[in-house]
Amino acid sequence: MKNITVIGAGTMGNGIAHVFAMGGHQVNLVDISKEALDKGIATIEKNLGRMVAREKITEAEKKATLGRIQTFTDTSKGVANANLVVEAATEDISLKIRIFKEMDEHAPEGAILATNTSSISITKIAAATQRPGQVIGMHFMNPVPIMKLVEIIRGYATTDKTTSAIMGLSKKLGKAPVEVNDYPGFVSNRILMPMINEAIYSLFESVAGVEEIDTVMKLGMAHPMGPLQLADFIGLDVCLSILNVLHEGFGNPKYAPCPLLANMVMAGKLGVKSGEGFYTYGHRTKELIVASRFRQQ
Ligand code: NAD
Repeated sequence: MKNITVIGAGTMGNGIAHVFAMGGHQVNLVDISKEALDKGIATIEKNLGRMVAREKITEAEKKATLGRIQTFTDTSKGVANANLVVEAATEDISLKIRIFKEMDEHAPEGAILATNTSSISITKIAAATQRPGQVIGMHFMNPVPIMKLVEIIRGYATTDKTTSAIMGLSKKLGKAPVEVNDYPGFVSNRILMPMINEAIYSLFESVAGVEEIDTVMKLGMAHPMGPLQLADFIGLDVCLSILNVLHEGFGNPKYAPCPLLANMVMAGKLGVKSGEGFYTYGHRTKELIVASRFRQQ
């Protein structure tokens, strides 16, 4: 697996490219937006710079890592020599199906096609290709260079050979892969999102305020971050769309998104990325200030 192509240079894509390039792979980073590519490379450079400052890598290793990453705006060219493609484009089923059809057409026959989707069915994406046995979920966690877990999701048709190749590769990257099957939300979001939704319901029903809910979970359950702050970090639009996938996929009302979450997304309050969610954030920082209108009376 020498040549890896990463589709999408956003939050997750640049982190995935970073990790593969650090692992000695040649990386083609593809995005439709030249601006996203420039921003992605700048982020990788900044994060590698931090590692140099902490003496985890040398300046020469930083330079060599950056030298292994090439950028493309054309998917067909970007996947032409790939042994593995990891798709990390926007979470939208029709977009992902379009990208997988294009990858399937232009990537070498033996290449494995993986997706970093948080919630979309691997089986459905695989069915859009001529190689469903070689399609798999490779769900990295944010921030990718730091988080150890990779949730490896087997679609209905994913072969043992594909799964063991991706499990082995993830271990070589220094990650801890966990194999799961393809059902809505997989394991990570099936458990996390109902907890976040319940925290939002607790706020919606005035059981407690934002800080109180987060403090209970941080100090009482030893969570490093409260569920409402975590939702702001993930993006409230992303949380809403995953809850909708769980709700539709299982047909169980227990997954219905809290109306407050839906309202906040409609109002453009998406969390850290929009500057306001359950907390407000300093401009372009993650500095956190509680939004007063959510304080407990
Ligand atoms: P993002 O919005 O930061 O980045 C998405 C990128 O995809 C953008 O740069 C966009 O220009 C690019 N893109 C859109 N259409 C494209 C196309 N046709 N070809 C190439 N690039 C295209 O999104 P993100 O947060 O990095 O999420 C990416 C994927 O990772 C999603 O499937 C998401 O569910 C998943 N994910 C996100 C997180 C998270 O915490 N953000 C965690 C795990 C998984």
